[in-house]
Amino acid sequence: MKKEIGLYLHIPFCVRKCAYCDFASFAGREGQMIPYVDRVIREMDEKSSPDFVISTLYIGGGTPSLLPAALMDRLLNALRARFAFLPDAECSCECNPGTVTEEFLAVLRRHGVNRLSLGAQACQPRLLALLGRIHTWDQVAASVDLARRAGFRNINLDLMLGLPTQTVAQVEETLAAALALSPTHLSCYGLIVEEGTAMHDMVKKGAWILPEEDAERDMYEACRKSLADHGFEQYEISNFALPGCACRHNVDCWRRKEYLGLGSAACGFLGNIRYQNPPDTNDYLAGKPARETVLSPEDARFESVMLGLRMMEGVSEAAFFRMHGVSLRDAFGAKLEKPLRQGLVTWENGRLRLTRRGMDLQNSVLVELL
Ligand code: SF4
Repeated sequence: MKKEIGLYLHIPFCVRKCAYCDFASFAGREGQMIPYVDRVIREMDEKSSPDFVISTLYIGGGTPSLLPAALMDRLLNALRARFAFLPDAECSCECNPGTVTEEFLAVLRRHGVNRLSLGAQACQPRLLALLGRIHTWDQVAASVDLARRAGFRNINLDLMLGLPTQTVAQVEETLAAALALSPTHLSCYGLIVEEGTAMHDMVKKGAWILPEEDAERDMYEACRKSLADHGFEQYEISNFALPGCACRHNVDCWRRKEYLGLGSAACGFLGNIRYQNPPDTNDYLAGKPARETVLSPEDARFESVMLGLRMMEGVSEAAFFRMHGVSLRDAFGAKLEKPLRQGLVTWENGRLRLTRRGMDLQNSVLVELL
């Protein structure tokens, strides 16, 4: 029987670097697009196997929609020729407003891509400019419209919370603007100011002031409330979906299902090995090898809890036992006592879950369990 796995494909090119971005993405390297696609196709040859069947595909970046339609067509043709897909495979592609074209979307549709994720972030022009985004909110709306006309029904919008100077009222305004576009899924990410980014420099200099912790919590609560009122179910700390529209690829990753990674910076997970391809396109094109980490049984058990606790469903005791051959209670035993006592985690119907307070203090729960 074939093994069902996920597949992540990384497209590292961007128009320009956003102020907060520390992802493995590069502006001004369009000249590498053709050799990059050739290299990814060679990697497909190395990684494809008749034993695999792809249950989910996620094309992320970078800005996949920056790739010319003809190159995306080549990539997806090659992918379909080398890998078997389940008939109902979820196939997602990230796109950035301002780069989405009818031709590109038609290529995605032709190759069975059935879910789009658009980086929308905020509807206020000043916040979009501060983030260094290349698009306006009108372009977000135009991209959603174009996607619908191309036949996409399952559309995610990414939004950001906790931006410098952002207010709760602005988050509410963005939520209303986003909901008016009728997405099936919303990801609401709290800003993390990473060292080495332009945002970090501005915050460090005091030029940009981040909202207070309380205000940030209020923004998050505004998302939870407004989205619940509109029929969205929260299934992960930052992710909300209409019933049946949770991102299967991400849920599978959080349940530790195996997946292949293709392209620079792409991560993969097979057996007890996690690997990451070289993050820099120059190294990837030069054929440098992936960095591999062999997981010990303890690493694997900790991963199950770390990833599972992100989801509202939590960590299933039964699934944990099936995967690790040891019960969740035996594996973590005494380490669970403190977070349980502090009301940060709870047992419910055979699952270990974070409480609402635990969601705010997730890191301290994980430190206890390490
Ligand atoms: S579009 Fe995304 S990947 Fe590209 S620079 Fe902006 S945040 Fe980073």
